[in-house]
Formats: sequence, structure tokens, C-alpha cells
Amino acid sequence: MAKRDYYEVLGVEKKASADDIKRAYRRLAIKYHPDKNPGDKEAEAKFKECAEAYEVLSDTTKRQQYDQYGHEGLRGQGMHDFSRMNVEDIFSMFGFDDFFGGLFGGGRRRSGRRAGPSRGYDLETSVELTLNEIAQGAEKKIEFTRQDRCGQCSGSGAAKGSKPSRCNVCGGSGQVAKGGGFFQMVSACPQCKGSGQVITKPCTKCKGSGHVPRKRSVTIKVPAGVHEGQGIRVAGEGEPGQHGGPNGDLYCYVRIKAHEFLERDGNNLIAVVPITFTQATLGTTIDVPSLDGTKQLKIPRGTHYGSLFRIRGQGLPDIRSGRTGDQLVQVTIETPTNLNEKQEELLREFAETENTNVSPKAQGFFEKLKQHFGSH
Ligand SMILES: [Zn+2]
Ligand SMILES: [Zn+2]
Repeated sequence: MAKRDYYEVLGVEKKASADDIKRAYRRLAIKYHPDKNPGDKEAEAKFKECAEAYEVLSDTTKRQQYDQYGHEGLRGQGMHDFSRMNVEDIFSMFGFDDFFGGLFGGGRRRSGRRAGPSRGYDLETSVELTLNEIAQGAEKKIEFTRQDRCGQCSGSGAAKGSKPSRCNVCGGSGQVAKGGGFFQMVSACPQCKGSGQVITKPCTKCKGSGHVPRKRSVTIKVPAGVHEGQGIRVAGEGEPGQHGGPNGDLYCYVRIKAHEFLERDGNNLIAVVPITFTQATLGTTIDVPSLDGTKQLKIPRGTHYGSLFRIRGQGLPDIRSGRTGDQLVQVTIETPTNLNEKQEELLREFAETENTNVSPKAQGFFEKLKQHFGSH
């Protein structure tokens, strides 16, 4: 799930201008457009990846956050959930719909978005959980910024006491025809950008955009056993709809905070625990880290490097069945490096006894070696 660098996605330099970024996005959006790559899921994914990169790099605030903190800086910054959006919506969001509509033969444009009520866009953010929270399920407070309808102008963008007036370039249709004869191309009106209206006196609060960023905070219930990358839907917390349409949804994608000792493998947890070679040889009981404190684990005599032990029922619950996984403990064996005199003496003594009594497996190996190189 690692996200690529946005500059890399668009193939632009870190110091690229807004125009460079727009050009790069247009070029890639045409290349990966689903109309040009029918049924190609990879192209569609690339297309959406480009849209996400463009959303960030074309927005001064988001770009700054990204430059300073990387993907991490964009949490709760009102990022749209492109994975759930269709292509036309992505274009109309960036004001490119008519450009592409003209390019690909038109007719695909959703005229409905402007005229009738339409649902607001979905937003995405992420929620970070510890393994303990995943084991128990958790309530988490999510804070994010959303573009809400401006209260001062009720979303019209026009200053109090004024009204948007009909665009005199397109006569209010939002479209202008270019070229003549058979191949006439219809594209968005350059003056009103397709809205059919111009704001002569912009609202002082939203500067004519009709929306203002608003901080929101919601509490979500995260079920026990969720996995990295799963999305939790919060209905109606996306952006407001157009012309009385309902709000979009907010999707919180789960991320797992790294645990100091435990790693997740499905519903099991794995701990790697080092023991000494004497413990491995003679056997012992050790304390191993688990989700709720430490657990005792018996290490039998003659344990080998990498051996796996299972503590039943100490893993994570399955999100559907609720059945709990196990904890697995893998042991590694540490070779002592700083021996004191006594230890050194004992080990040398031990090695001498070993020379006359080599273990069967090792003996086989040395015999083969002798046969191969001849004995001296
Ligand atoms: Zn306003
Ligand atoms: Zn116009």
C-alpha cells in the first residue's frame, strides 16, 4: 500500500510551476484515460493515482504540507477518495471535464451535475491503530478538513445583496463551440468555466468559490480484527452535494502502528526472541512479549535456531468469525562475543570433549569434506 511520490507520479520536478504540473497531469490523464484503455484496470489505477497527485500538487496548501511532511502531512486534509470516484467526476472536480469531453468525442459529460441535485464527493483519511486496539476494537476520534458550503452566500459565491449574472460569452449555457462544419468541438466556456454564470461581486468570505474549509471531528467505531488498508465508511461526512444533493461519505483507511516486539501475520502475531546457546542446548523457561504483558514459554532441550513455538489464542480476533489467532514465537540463538576468562576456559574444555565426540550430522559433513579434499 506504499504510496508513490507525487512528483514522481506526474513526472515533474520538485520545483515545478503550477503550469508544469497542470500540463503533466493533462498529458498523463489522456494517456491513462479509460476511454483509451478500455477494460484496463492498471491504466485506471494509474489514472486515479495521477488525479490524487494532481489534487495535492495543484493546491498550494496541500502541496506545502506534502513537501514538508510527505504523505503523512495530508491526513485529514480533505483528500478525495479517488478509488471510489468515476472518471467524469474526477474531471469535473478539476474543471477538466469539458476539455476531455471535447477530446473524446463529447457526450460523456454529465450534464446532470450542473442542473439537478447531485451527491457530494467522498473524502478519505486514515486512522492509525495499535495492535492492542485491533485486538479489542476501538473508538477513535478523527479530525479532518472539509470544503463546506459557504454560509454567507449559501454557496452561490456572490456577495450579499448581489447575484451571479448570466455569462455573456456563452449566454449561460456554459459551452462554446469551436471550429466549424462537421467537426465542431464543444468545450467549456473559458469565461465562466462551464457554470454559465459569472460572479461580478464575489462573496467576501469564500472569495467567490462558494465553499469554505471547515474542520470536522467525528468519532468512529473500529471493529476488532480490522486489517491494514481496510476502509471504514462514515456516511454523510464527505463533501456537501450540489443543488440540494446529499453529502458524500468519508472513508477512514486503517493503518497499523508498528509494535515494538510483535508483528502481524493474518490473525497471528509473531515475536522473534533471542536466547543464549546454553538455554537452547539445556532448555529453560523464558518470558516472551505478548499483547497483554509477558507470557512464559518453555524452551525444550536441544532447541534449534529459528524454531517456532505456538501460544494458542494469543493472537488477534478474526474480523468476521471473532475466532482468535495464535501467537508464534520464533527463537534465534545468540553467539556469545565477550567471554570472560572462566567462560573461555570452560568452552575450550567443552570443545576438547567435542573433538572426540562429534555429533552425527557434523561428522557426516566432515567425512564428506575429507573425501572431497583428501586428508592430510
Ligand atoms: Zn461565500
Ligand atoms: Zn460562459
